[in-house]
Amino acid sequence: MSVNSDWRLLAYKELVDSLNPFFSHYLGDYCRNCRQVIGRLPEAVEESVDLIEGVYPGCCHRGAGDIFRLEGESSERANLAPEIITGLQRERQQKLQQPGVGGGNYSFRRHRDGALVKGAHCKYFSTQGCILGALKGPLCINFICPPMRADLLAVCDEDDFLVGPEHDFLFVYRSLAVISYDGRDEVVRELSDFRQRVQLLAERCRDFLFERQAQSLYSIFTKPSTG
Ligand code: SF4
Ligand code: SF4
Repeated sequence: MSVNSDWRLLAYKELVDSLNPFFSHYLGDYCRNCRQVIGRLPEAVEESVDLIEGVYPGCCHRGAGDIFRLEGESSERANLAPEIITGLQRERQQKLQQPGVGGGNYSFRRHRDGALVKGAHCKYFSTQGCILGALKGPLCINFICPPMRADLLAVCDEDDFLVGPEHDFLFVYRSLAVISYDGRDEVVRELSDFRQRVQLLAERCRDFLFERQAQSLYSIFTKPSTG
């Protein structure tokens, strides 16, 4: 691989690395308690299930980690740069050699029609969670579900310029399009702006929790279900 394509991959990993701690610290318990979170959606009753086998998949379905689209970007920037995808795939292969990795299966019974639904986890899913770290795909760092987004907006006084539009948490896709296709100076600037956005959002979350003497956003916004 040429040095020329290396720097884009490094910039990509830097962006993911700058966001991962925010997810772990402020949003990780949402995903660990996904069914409670999903229970807040209006369609929850309609979509409620009993888990029969495996672990509830949340958003980590087979294939989700290998989606490289940048939704909402222009058609020539609608995917991550090919050299970044190639680099990610090469480094992911090494991660897949680790024991205990490979996803696994799950099944659940849907209440509304009694159907048995079977599925497979993302191949990067393990008992310890996602194994990819800085190699996560665009969708995995961009997607926040509606309850998460609503809570972050509440934390930020509904400042959707900070949280980002519905399809683009923290403008991740826009930043990844810059990393993929623009020159080095623009990429350096974008990375710096992105880090500032993450830091600002983290500060808003930290202050919000401090004022309420609470440990987590999840505990404030998601009431345990009684069912
Ligand atoms: S983002 Fe929301 S829906 Fe997806 S796993 Fe996390 S809590 Fe569940
Ligand atoms: S790559 Fe990681 S975060 Fe993304 S779907 Fe797979 S296990 Fe989940």
